Amino acid sequence: MRERIEAQTAIAFNLTKGKSLKLIDIYGKQVADFVCFSSVDDGEQLSTKATIDLNGTIRLSEGQQVFSNRYEPLLTLVQSSVQYHDLIHPACSPAMFQNLYKKKDHPNCLDNLKGILERDRIPDPINFFMNTHMEPDGKIKVNEPLTGPGDSVELHAEKNLIIGIAACSVEESPCNGFRCTDLEVIY
Ligand SMILES: [Zn+2]
Repeated sequence: MRERIEAQTAIAFNLTKGKSLKLIDIYGKQVADFVCFSSVDDGEQLSTKATIDLNGTIRLSEGQQVFSNRYEPLLTLVQSSVQYHDLIHPACSPAMFQNLYKKKDHPNCLDNLKGILERDRIPDPINFFMNTHMEPDGKIKVNEPLTGPGDSVELHAEKNLIIGIAACSVEESPCNGFRCTDLEVIY
C-alpha cells in the first residue's frame, strides 16, 4: 500500500507485527509527527521518554528501537537516510500556534492526529526528520531539516500497531523549512 499524506493533514493505518513501513519525505525538509498505539492493549502506546531512557540518547538512530509506556519495543528503526529525528518536542497544537505565533484556527498535528485516530489523547510524537540541535548548556534550537527529496526512514513493527502520521503544519519556522509539503508512506 502506498499512501500520500497531503500537506497539513494526517493518516492512520494498522501495521501487523513483523511488517515494515517506509516513510518518505517527497520534496525534502518536511517533518512527520509519528505516533503509535498497541492495537491489542488499549493502555499501551508510544513513549518518547521511555525511548530516550532505554536508548540512552535524545536522538533516534538506525538499529535503535521505539518503546512504549510499558518499556516494551514497538518498532525498530531499520533504516534512516538522515541522522536527526526529534524526540523532545510535542505535536504542534492550537495552544502552540496561539502561544508562539498568535494565530488561531491554524491546521495542526495534534488536531489532525486526534481526528484521524478518533482519540482524545495523543502521546507526544516522534518528529521524524526534525532537526533539533542541543547546545552544551541545554538550550535547544530547531534548524531546517537536513532531508532532501526522497529521504526516508524504514520501521519494522515489533507488535500489532495502530499508527498515526501527520505532515507537520508549521510554516512559520525553520521546522519544515518555512513551507509545508506532502509525505508518502509505503506499508
Ligand atoms: Zn506539527
